[in-house]
Amino acid sequence: MPSAKMQKNAQYIELGSYQYWPVLVPRGIRLYTYEQVPGFLKENPYITDGYRAYLTSRLCIKSLFILSNETVNIWSHLLGFCLFFTLGVYDLLAVLPTLGASREDYVIYSIGLFCFQVCMLCSVGYHLFCCHRSEKTSRRWMALDYAGISIGIIGCYIPGVFYAFYCNNYWRQVYLLTVLAMMLAVFFAQIHPHYLTKKWQQLRSVIFCAVAGYGLIPTVHWIWLSGGFSADIVQEFVFRVLVMYILAVAAIVFYTSKVPERYFPGQLNYLGSSHQIWHILVVLMFYWWHQSALSLTNHRHSHPCPDYPHHS
Ligand SMILES: [Zn+2]
Repeated sequence: MPSAKMQKNAQYIELGSYQYWPVLVPRGIRLYTYEQVPGFLKENPYITDGYRAYLTSRLCIKSLFILSNETVNIWSHLLGFCLFFTLGVYDLLAVLPTLGASREDYVIYSIGLFCFQVCMLCSVGYHLFCCHRSEKTSRRWMALDYAGISIGIIGCYIPGVFYAFYCNNYWRQVYLLTVLAMMLAVFFAQIHPHYLTKKWQQLRSVIFCAVAGYGLIPTVHWIWLSGGFSADIVQEFVFRVLVMYILAVAAIVFYTSKVPERYFPGQLNYLGSSHQIWHILVVLMFYWWHQSALSLTNHRHSHPCPDYPHHS
């Protein structure tokens, strides 16, 4: 049996240069290499070190303040949550009153920003508790993280559809209902016991691409109903949808390809890995969409609805 002191020395050797930053490693939390962590934490072989593992809930929370390979993931969405919380308060108290908002506007903005906040918190929870000593707990948080992304997507669709089809109640209801039905179907897929297995990895990507890609249908319909690309409102807002899709495609590409750490294995363990880029792109997407919704709301309140023929 090795003595406690020898074990401690061995730990410091495994920690590499990290041993020189002892203030960042509170007692009870140590970091592991990819080979040392349990199977359910082996998601990305290009992240070779800096893993937390085998922690109790209390130590998971404590690990918020140490530098590990999840620190940027946790804090990027914790700050994202603060951003959308602040934006929510600011919108409801300062921005919407100056726009002469109706009760419906308040409801739509509250739903949208609430969805963004839930998405951020589920992600923080997952990245904080994925290293829990119980695999079941870790998996539950992972499922919640996936559900959170779906909720975030709902938070984009609802204001988007609501203000795009502001003057056409029929299609507005059709798209709101289909979006809700689609997200409900995704939820049921997510609680399927096989959903999070490696076998279904590809299917998960397909589902997310389908959910995000579905938005092209109401977009094209909106362009057509508004009178084509020459219409003022289309000219003003179509590029916002385009930027949103560019961000979304970039986010999904980084997420699935594990670029750039795939080309620099072991060098981007703490900073610069694909999942961190994905997190930042998600915050940017939500922020961009929120600003676009505000601009569209402003447009809707300053331009009266033209008379559309019904059901066109
Ligand atoms: Zn994440």
